[in-house]
Amino acid sequence: MALIVQKYGGTSVGSPERIERVAERVITAREAGHDVIVVVSAMSGETNRLLELARSLHPSPPARLSDLLVSTGEQVTISLLGMALENRGCPTRCYTGAQVRILTDSAHSKARIQEIDAKVLTEDMKAGRVAVVAGFQGVDPTGAITTLGRGGSDTTAVALAAALKADECQIYTDVDGVYTTDPRVVAKARRLKRITFEEMLEMASLGSKILQIRAVEFAGKYHVPLRVLSSFEDGPGTLITFEDETMEEPLISGIAFHRDEAKLTVLGVPDRPGIAGAILGPVSDANIEVDMIVQNISQSGATDFTFTIHRNDYEKALQILEKTCNDLGAREVYGDTKIVKLSLVGVGMRSHAGVASTMFKALADEGINIQMISTSEIKISVVIEEKYLELGVRALHSAFGLDDESAQVQVEGQGS
Ligand code: ASP
Ligand code: MG
Repeated sequence: MALIVQKYGGTSVGSPERIERVAERVITAREAGHDVIVVVSAMSGETNRLLELARSLHPSPPARLSDLLVSTGEQVTISLLGMALENRGCPTRCYTGAQVRILTDSAHSKARIQEIDAKVLTEDMKAGRVAVVAGFQGVDPTGAITTLGRGGSDTTAVALAAALKADECQIYTDVDGVYTTDPRVVAKARRLKRITFEEMLEMASLGSKILQIRAVEFAGKYHVPLRVLSSFEDGPGTLITFEDETMEEPLISGIAFHRDEAKLTVLGVPDRPGIAGAILGPVSDANIEVDMIVQNISQSGATDFTFTIHRNDYEKALQILEKTCNDLGAREVYGDTKIVKLSLVGVGMRSHAGVASTMFKALADEGINIQMISTSEIKISVVIEEKYLELGVRALHSAFGLDDESAQVQVEGQGS
């Protein structure tokens, strides 16, 4: 007997029939002897529809009103699911975020949870009732309804699971788990049985959009085991958890990629203290996030300095850099928007040498040129030409034995 928080996303509650299926799942978990608390998103498309409605009446809707409006999407779903459950004889209580008392700050549309008073939920459990909670929302100290940012129902579920010390937080969605890479790019991509929080954060921030990043961070911080599963088919999904000391971690868990990168280079920058700050300072002052940074060794007192940013920020960053280039007496600014970033992610690489050389060789064998490299303890990223994205991901996927469960990963110079 366990306490499980189940969260159902927009597509899982997208129609009355689907809501019926959610009710069946909840009841099945109860019949297996578990206490269940359910968190739901708005029906798919509903939040966007409400935001469009708002914009049809005001060019930039006041945030307080916008939150009041969009929070109704989830209120619809809790009520409907409550009806489906009651209709099956399952005693149920449904709550908006404010009714539970999910207290947040007042940062409308991106509020942070400050405190959860889940007394009502504990009472429901004691009385044998299922509690259904509206995701994505809370209430601020003035009583105003707030929302937690797009995709925020994941965070509601994790926060409730943390507050109630649930045994597992299950995120039901339209995919059956986390994959080694995007199955649309690599047909042989596999579902992972488990992945660590750290790896999931890397995968998520690198473009895998299954879970809100904040929810993964929250789950890691509060030690909430998370499981991603499909609400359309049965299966174990993917467990997101801590590194298992007793088990050999797989070398590489997945390959993430980012299509939206752009690269900027300042050529011939005088090599002296303060240059990196002088180049990147104005860029970050303009709220442009810098990702990879490479500075060459200097010959004859001048160096080249390259960094990557999101493609949307390219024009703005280029303008800023041209001015900096003038100010510093650098030779030239050069940019490229036709690049992508590929990353190998795996906690197993901490204790293995040779991952990088295997990666570089696999890319070289396909004639793919590496433009930039960066590494962390559990990640190696490279920048390559955009047109090689698919080829590169596929080459790495097979080079690291991810294509086939039984394949053995061979890495040169193994050892720790
Ligand atoms: N309904 C909200 C959104 O579409 C929250 C969520 O689905 O998690 O972003
Ligand atoms: Mg979502």
